Amino acid sequence: MNVRSNEPFWLVQNGLLHTYPSLQQDIHCDILIIGGGVTGALMAHACVKAGYQTVLIDKREIANGSTSATTSMLQYELDTPLHELIDQIGEEAAVASYKSCRDAIYELQQVVKEIKSTSGFELKKSLYFCANSKDLKDLQKEYETRKFYGFEVDWLGEEDLKATYGLVSKGAILSKDGASIDAFKLTHDLLHYNTNKGLKVFDKTESIKTSYQKDKVFLKTQTGYAITASKVIYCTGYETQHFLPEKIVKLKSTYASISEVQNNIGDALKHTLFWNTNKPYLYLRATDEGRILIGGEDENFKNAVKRDLLLDRKERKLKETFQQVMPDRCFDTDFVWAGTFGETKDSLPYIGEHPKFPNSYFVLGFGGNGIAFSAIGMKLIVDLIKNQPNVLSHYFRFGR
Ligand SMILES: Cc1cc2nc3c(=O)[nH]c(=O)nc-3n(C[C@H](O)[C@H](O)[C@H](O)COP(=O)(O)OP(=O)(O)OC[C@H]3O[C@@H](n4cnc5c(N)ncnc54)[C@H](O)[C@@H]3O)c2cc1C
Repeated sequence: MNVRSNEPFWLVQNGLLHTYPSLQQDIHCDILIIGGGVTGALMAHACVKAGYQTVLIDKREIANGSTSATTSMLQYELDTPLHELIDQIGEEAAVASYKSCRDAIYELQQVVKEIKSTSGFELKKSLYFCANSKDLKDLQKEYETRKFYGFEVDWLGEEDLKATYGLVSKGAILSKDGASIDAFKLTHDLLHYNTNKGLKVFDKTESIKTSYQKDKVFLKTQTGYAITASKVIYCTGYETQHFLPEKIVKLKSTYASISEVQNNIGDALKHTLFWNTNKPYLYLRATDEGRILIGGEDENFKNAVKRDLLLDRKERKLKETFQQVMPDRCFDTDFVWAGTFGETKDSLPYIGEHPKFPNSYFVLGFGGNGIAFSAIGMKLIVDLIKNQPNVLSHYFRFGR
């Protein structure tokens, strides 16, 4: 499955930062990570740090799956509002899930510092704004709920929004905790850093056959070699659904468009992430160099060809919607691309063990918070490997 269209911005901007050999011999390791996107790279970092002899393989070039297409907004706010999630899964689980996403933003900041990554991590505020007057009541309820559970939020009214952001909306929740990053660059930086600490990376190496044994996993690659690992961590993104026995994710096509560099972007827009209450929602942010990045216009995923045929139409629609919400700004499109992503029934990821895959773990950070979920996976999976308790493993488990 092709998980993105051609020319996602980050790939064009960064190029192939590092390439790795394909696997050309049989090898053994403690931990085998399948998938070299941002999830696999974060897991590799955690496993190397925990002292495991770790190997990572990817069937493509590194970070050429969804990670090259992502708009990389780091938010603790899940696709399901907190007050709805409480109704759905209970207070304790919902609040813990929101808080774990908030903590993940700061864990990512630590990782970036630790490896001296130049992936442009920047803490930002996050503005969740009302798309239609009918959403106002629910948005206010969400504001009260978040405040009650200790999240740092402010309410902004119509006039404040116009004055501060030039934004047309009836009201919005401004959250303190958010960030943005170039996830493509972070992935490369993480793998490069960890190869110097013993991590082995093989790209263009696809896992094609796996047999699960009592105390190890034996895997064949399309290059004709074998990998024997004590544990496997699947970080295979949206393509994972193809080999899972149960349906856990509804695949969607999503569209993103980036403007030419604007000289007068202004601090308010530069330091804030925006998303709205529409379903599907519109989201936007500025990049370090002063481009505006907008995304949304999701459709149910049918196939990659149909997804990409809509690119021109979706680019026009995104621009039109942007112009309605920020009428005083211009948007000259420079690049447009599409990606596949997925939604789970509760907006939560699937992280942990699966009964059909012994000695294996999955880190599937689906939804609009995929990257924060991947960061949560770092500690969670190491805890599981070490048989240490982690309450999140219950909330993010398969079969919930
Ligand atoms: C347009 C768009 C916007 C998004 N915006 C955001 C956002 O603002 N914030 C956010 O948090 N998330 C966002 N997401 C989601 C985010 O991009 C994903 O959660 C994240 O990139 C997933 O990373 P990953 O490493 O799990 O998957 P991927 O990057 O897809 O990596 C999986 C890798 O596994 C490899 N693989 C698969 N099968 C095999 C196999 N059998 N053998 C070897 N290798 C294999 C693939 O080649 C691939 O490289 C967005 C997604 C899209 C498409």
